[in-house]
Amino acid sequence: MDGARRAPLAGDAAPRHEVVDPASGRAVAVGGLAGPADVDAAVEAATRAQREWGAAPPAERSTVMHRWAVELEAVADELARAETSQTGKPIRLSREFDVPGTIDNTAFFAGAARLLEGRAAGEYSADHTSVVRREPLGVVGSIAPWNYPLQMAAWKVLPAVAAGDAIVLKPSELTPLTALLMAEAGARAGLPAGVLNVVTGAGPDVGEHLVAHPGVAMVSFTGSSAVGRRVMSLAAGSAKRVHLELGGKAPFVVFDDADLEAAVHGAVAGALINTGQDCTAATRAIVHRSLHDDFVAGVADLMRAVRLGDPLDDDTDQGPLISRVHQGRVAAHVERARAEGAKVVCGGAAPGGALAAGAYYEPTLVAGIDRTASIWRDEVFGPVLCVVPFDDDDTAIELANDTEYGLAASAWTRDVVRAGRATREIQAGCVWVNDHIPIISEMPHGGVKASGFGKDMSAYSLEEYTSVKHVMTDLTGTARKPWHRTVFTDRTTTPVDSSEEPA
Ligand code: NAD
Repeated sequence: MDGARRAPLAGDAAPRHEVVDPASGRAVAVGGLAGPADVDAAVEAATRAQREWGAAPPAERSTVMHRWAVELEAVADELARAETSQTGKPIRLSREFDVPGTIDNTAFFAGAARLLEGRAAGEYSADHTSVVRREPLGVVGSIAPWNYPLQMAAWKVLPAVAAGDAIVLKPSELTPLTALLMAEAGARAGLPAGVLNVVTGAGPDVGEHLVAHPGVAMVSFTGSSAVGRRVMSLAAGSAKRVHLELGGKAPFVVFDDADLEAAVHGAVAGALINTGQDCTAATRAIVHRSLHDDFVAGVADLMRAVRLGDPLDDDTDQGPLISRVHQGRVAAHVERARAEGAKVVCGGAAPGGALAAGAYYEPTLVAGIDRTASIWRDEVFGPVLCVVPFDDDDTAIELANDTEYGLAASAWTRDVVRAGRATREIQAGCVWVNDHIPIISEMPHGGVKASGFGKDMSAYSLEEYTSVKHVMTDLTGTARKPWHRTVFTDRTTTPVDSSEEPA
């Protein structure tokens, strides 16, 4: 709350919790988990802090946030190592994507804080001046997942702080370390006590208490669609605004004129990034029948060359999954596909030897799938790519959209007309053309359908953490307004044109 770490209010009675390195199974941090009383204290601190923070001129908030970016840069190496130790993601990914992406996001929102503006200022009625004010919402409760702990915390926290809100953030209990480091960097940058509060705890007690808390004006959630639906129903109890970034099952459509080498490389990178634990990961390759066999052979060759290993080693391409439990889930998906008659072209097992102590799973390509197969429909969230062939463009688009999700997609073609059609017709929050995965601070990220709603990053997300207020000021200066005659007849009121109706 003031940049200092605190023990849970329950003291020794708080449940003990270990943050585990999934590469080794060893604990990297141990502490007590927060409980509902800690959420109450955090919301109280946020409420107190928000009044002043929300009233501060944008330039003041911007200055603090610029310093925050500098403070994050100063601890970039520590952040990268902590991110890798709690998630098992390769250090190259932490160093070259998660940490610089977060610093860039912080710098972006530092600038964007000064650009918030209302749209109208003028006389839309002859007798009034209208002004639109964009105002902070108050206290935002945010809940983040474990796959990109630092970036997901940043995507939740930064637009809220830039808009003048205060925030209570619950990171995943599996990966709280970098959200805490980020908050500490904010405190060193001059973020006032109480503006950002990190409460480490489990979903069902701490998360649900935060969502239902009467002092919280908005809930911003990133995680699975199942928990997102639960969050939405709990928030409905107090009619809170919700922002939901949920699951995905991204199609990767390869048309017959595509650059095959680019598509093969794009598919492997897009499917295996973060060990496939990426909501936008390429999971459903939909490939024209004329390229299908070469695509399968190329992807399998590249997947077999991926080096699994110690995440802290610069030479490692792919680390473990987040946990043993999750490793079991991914393996069960692949086993079920096998049982349903799918062909596992490569991978499909946990490696043995030195890697057996970690939650590793081999890069896996599954072909020969029926479109009703669970591995084609359900979010696996592991290093598993499925592939099906198609014969005509209509079928390709139809297959791409035949999913409950709608977060991201890509189309691979050299034909500008095909690209135009695919980007228009594929139902997703983002469609890449001849690439899959890149994101950038200025552009929005968020889904449609069961992938949720609301945007992260970009000016769109800043607006979501504000409310719009219409201010309408009378210009007549009279006691008897012309429109009063629609409510009561005062014979001394001058009759007016009947077009002057109330709004
Ligand atoms: P999850 O839904 O299990 O958990 C997410 C967060 O919610 C965690 O902090 C967890 O503790 C909390 N939580 C769990 N139960 C809760 C409850 N009943 N009430 C309130 N909070 C609760 O998701 P996960 O396994 O941590 O993350 C993986 C999921 O996140 C995948 O489905 C992935 O697609 C999704 N994801 C989406 C995006 C996006 O931008 N759309 C980004 C990253 C991850």
